[in-house]
Amino acid sequence: MSAEVLDGKKISKEIQAEIKERVAAFVATFDHTPTLAAVLVGEDPASQVYVRNKERACERAGIHSQLFRMSAQSTTEDVLELVQQLNEDPAVNGILVQLPLPPSVDSQVVLDAVHPIKDVDAFHPTNVGLISQGRPQFLPCTPHGIIQMLKRYGIQANGKNVVIVGRSDIVGKPMALMLANRDIGLGPEMANATVTLCHSRTSDLKAMTRMGDILIAAMGQPEFITGDMVKPGAVVVDVGINRTDAGLVGDVDYEGVLPVASYLTPVPGGVGPLTVTMLLENTLTATGLQRAAISS
Ligand code: NDP
Repeated sequence: MSAEVLDGKKISKEIQAEIKERVAAFVATFDHTPTLAAVLVGEDPASQVYVRNKERACERAGIHSQLFRMSAQSTTEDVLELVQQLNEDPAVNGILVQLPLPPSVDSQVVLDAVHPIKDVDAFHPTNVGLISQGRPQFLPCTPHGIIQMLKRYGIQANGKNVVIVGRSDIVGKPMALMLANRDIGLGPEMANATVTLCHSRTSDLKAMTRMGDILIAAMGQPEFITGDMVKPGAVVVDVGINRTDAGLVGDVDYEGVLPVASYLTPVPGGVGPLTVTMLLENTLTATGLQRAAISS
């Protein structure tokens, strides 16, 4: 048996085409183009690539994007000043602060300063709280992208054992909250999972990962998840993006897991494209929320 490869590029294209139509309808109705402001501090090469990809995706979908570059020497106060300006600008609907920020900037303070209604990454405590309570305003891009991909392949999480390796605020933790909740608007098939959230202090990780009907690896450890750590027939989602001498690899040993799993995401071309696509979705959602707030 060989796993079916989950094609993130294909699913992204489908979703982006749908978003493009919804953007065009919004512009025709309200005469306002959804606008995303990206804040890029410093010269981190990977961040430059991510921001460029996001800008291009916006352009394809008819969303206006603005890039604000700041020097690596910027202070927390410098970045806060820009964020405040963007919060108050009615032309800007979504604010994205590209991570990581340089050490001179307090990331938490900056992320907390983004207005929750423009928080298209869903990192603000208000949005995290709403997700936790099962009534989200925005869903974080990577976990949401994973859910959309599984849905479109007809894979159900309802009633399944989902094992997530990695408890970051960006991926693992919100992924766990979203799948363990009752239906939060993602459809009943993507609710009510029994979730195990693993991390570096988990004892006997292999025993845990082998329990997963769905195994999500988000740890930033190249090819860490090997075939013997996977339950036969499991769905394996590889979130990892690791730059190695051999090129870009995920957190999953692709060749080793392929014969064991039923479905597997590749790296690149798996979760990554969906993350960008969900940013577009959130920008459109933010624009709609702001429009509704003006008219109420
Ligand atoms: P973080 O570095 O913030 O968190 C990593 C998590 O993995 C931590 O919870 C850590 O545990 C856990 N971990 C690390 N090593 C082990 C181990 N040996 N055993 C068990 N758990 C371990 O990572 P992110 O969530 O930000 O990113 C994870 C990966 O996903 C990275 O490769 C990143 O590049 C990629 N990524 C990809 C995206 C995409 O769109 N495809 C988007 C975002 C991230 P502990 O908490 O105990 O330290």
